[in-house]
Amino acid sequence: MHCPFCGAHDTRVTDSRLVADGDQVRRRRQCAACGERFTTYETAELVMPRVIKSDGSRELFDEAKLRAGMLRALEKRPVSAESIEAAVERIRQTLRARGEREVHARDIGEEVMHALKRLDQVAYIRFASVYRRFQDIDEFRAEIDRLAQEPSFRPDESE
Ligand SMILES: [Zn+2]
Repeated sequence: MHCPFCGAHDTRVTDSRLVADGDQVRRRRQCAACGERFTTYETAELVMPRVIKSDGSRELFDEAKLRAGMLRALEKRPVSAESIEAAVERIRQTLRARGEREVHARDIGEEVMHALKRLDQVAYIRFASVYRRFQDIDEFRAEIDRLAQEPSFRPDESE
């Protein structure tokens, strides 16, 4: 880290400790050239990546939009608000954990499908049919068949 006083490249850490309940690292540094001391704070980057849309334009990540899309697929389905919120939070964490500044909208769509598949099969099919724009009924049926092969897939007897 460069010295903010003289611009020298060589500064050393004289003290390092966790602050803000462990969410930050505070470092005392001293410049080897001019002897000035300064402090740096290190925090995890919690900003959500920006979204690259299919036309190449960028927009801010919109959690409300993500949730609305999931709620639309989950309409009248027996899934608790708590489970939905947990799924939204998992998606946020997954996207953040990529460590990228930008993420493709289709990757978010894939994450939503992954989450819905675990929450509710009907919601998953609803979302997938819109999102993947199944070309015809055969393609749609193939997806249902593929789903049925998966061990995690639990058919809902009431449907
Ligand atoms: Zn200096």
